[in-house]
This record gives sequence, structure tokens and C-alpha cells, in this order.
Amino acid sequence: MDITSMAPDEIASRIGDRPYRGKQVFAWLHKRQVTSFDLMTDLPKQLREKLSKSYTIGTDIYTLRSVQSADLTTKYLFRLENNTIIESVYMCYRFGGSVCASTQAGCRMGCIFCASGKNGFERNLTPSEICGQVYAIQRGKPRVGHVVLMGCGEPLDNYDNVVKFIRLISDENGQQLSRRAITVSTCGLTPKIIKLADEMLPVTLAVSLHAPNDDVRGCLVPAARAFPMPELLRACSYYTDKTGRQVTFEYVMIRGVNDSLSQAGELAGRLKGTLSHVNLIRLNTQEASGLYASSDDTIRRFADYLCGRGIKATVRRALGSDINAACGQLRVLNKRT
Ligand code: SAH
Repeated sequence: MDITSMAPDEIASRIGDRPYRGKQVFAWLHKRQVTSFDLMTDLPKQLREKLSKSYTIGTDIYTLRSVQSADLTTKYLFRLENNTIIESVYMCYRFGGSVCASTQAGCRMGCIFCASGKNGFERNLTPSEICGQVYAIQRGKPRVGHVVLMGCGEPLDNYDNVVKFIRLISDENGQQLSRRAITVSTCGLTPKIIKLADEMLPVTLAVSLHAPNDDVRGCLVPAARAFPMPELLRACSYYTDKTGRQVTFEYVMIRGVNDSLSQAGELAGRLKGTLSHVNLIRLNTQEASGLYASSDDTIRRFADYLCGRGIKATVRRALGSDINAACGQLRVLNKRT
């Protein structure tokens, strides 16, 4: 059993020891990231032996390959247990390093413009495997200040493990990453957004909206058909009320599909009065998808139109597209790759 997926109190109660022991072991795992119980030098030898008989540390996360793009974005190919292969990305911003982590190997959501589900769904990642991506990338680099769950997978489709990951990586005995510096991006699983709001973890919520109405949205994000926009937007307001955090709406700009000014007007009408921010993303084209990116001019005009209607809108800088590390380009790889 992988002890790196456990919170300090869980470790303490499993080993039947006092709470501080749990914190001590947790710190070795999440702060110093040791790979063997033998290195936990302030634990009694007996306890170290007991731990090594019953638990494993982290999953065997192995870097198969890393490639750096011209803008210093680095894409990692990791091999996890059972030969599951996933991708994660390190991005360098002025304010520090950011990791884009995967939450599932593959994806079930079926968004027509995204590569993540093209090879199907393999499995959910464990909390330890999500932490492991951050720790492996961080090795030898300045401390990672932000984590965005925008890699492969739908975070809220792996709800329990993702919430646990947030608790582990922000724990005061470990990395202490600020919860505000963690972004959960979802294609809009409404009931899970409400559940997340009730956890009172003030993480940043990003919702992949991509359309001003359910007709267009249903074509782009098939999973969204079960969650109509009025309820989705109500859940987002609930999230804001509960956490005090503004919601980001992601909107991939696809030529002739969702990028007209009348659609910008419809979107502005829907979002009026919500504490939110629209992040426009230029489509990263997938081979043979028949979908094309909107021009930079169209994107700028769409953003200006929203701003003119009182909706905050920005255009996301595309990093790493030359190494297939940009939004929607991460995949679960075939085991033979
Ligand atoms: N499943 C989550 C997180 C995945 S991806 C979600 O849907 O939000 C993170 C963002 O990249 C999402 O907004 C997603 O819609 C977007 N994206 C996916 N494919 C893309 C592509 N080809 N070009 C640009 N953005 C894309």
C-alpha cells in the first residue's frame, strides 16, 4: 500500500502511533521526498522496519523522456505502475514555475477538440501519483509555486483522489502549496462543483465553457449534455459564494464555431453579474479534426467585445505548442510508445 497517498493523521492511526509520528513520516515523504524508510533517520529503527514491511513509498514514477520547447516549457513523459504512461508539463512564468498535472490516464469526456481522450480511458491516478508528477518535475528546479490540473483527464471525474491530492500538497507538514495556487479545471460536472464548494478548499475553479449556449456546447463537450448551462452557472455562483473565489471560464476559440461577435454578446449576457473571468484559448489543432483555430484578430475582437460589455476577458498565452505540450495536446500514450 502506498503511504504517500495518506494524510498525517491517517498515517498515525494506521501505525497506531501518536499524531506527531504521522506528521514526521509525512514530512519525510512530502517535504524531503525520500525514497526509502531507512532514510527517515529520526524514526525508531523498529518503526522503520515495520513501515517498510507494510507500505511502499510513492508509486514508481519514472521519467521516460523530457523535451523542452523554445519558450522553456518542458513536457515530461512519466511511466507509472503497471506501465501506465502519462504526460505532464512544466511552465516557466515571470511569477515562477507552474506544473500542469494529469489526473487520469486518458479521459472519458470526449471533447471533440482534445487529444486527451483519443486513446480512450485507462484509469484514475492516485493522490500519490498526482503529487509524484509535481515532485519529479520540481527536482533540481526552484520550488513550484502553482499547480494546474489541466493535463490529461477530468479532475472531477476522479473526485476523491483529486481532493485528497489538494489536501496532501497543501498540508503544513509537507509542500505547503497555497490552495489558491492550485487550479482545478473541469468540463463542468455540476454536482461535483457543488461538492467541491462544500469542501471549503479555496482552490481556483476553472470551468471549460467553450460556448455561449447548450446547443454549441453539447457538440463540443458531449459530457456537458447532462449538465445544462443554467444549472452549471448556478453551481459556479455557489462556488464563488462559498469560497469567495472568482471562477475562470475557459473558452477555446474555434473558427466559425463559437467565435462570432453575436456569440460573444450571448456569452456576455449569460455571465453578466457573475464574479468571473473569461480566459480565451486559441485552439491547438488536432490532426484531421476538421476544426481550425480562430485568427488572432478574431480572438482579440471577441475579448474586446466581452470587456466592452463589462466581462473580464484575457487571452491565454500558448506555451509549448511546438512540442505538443499545449492545452489539449496531452495524451495517455500507447504502452508501446
Ligand atoms: N478536463 C478538464 C481539464 C483538461 S484540459 C477540462 O475540461 O477543463 C484544460 C483546458 O484545455 C480545458 O479548458 C480544455 O477544454 C482545453 N483544451 C482541450 N483541448 C484543447 C485544444 N485542442 N486547444 C486548446 N485548448 C484545449
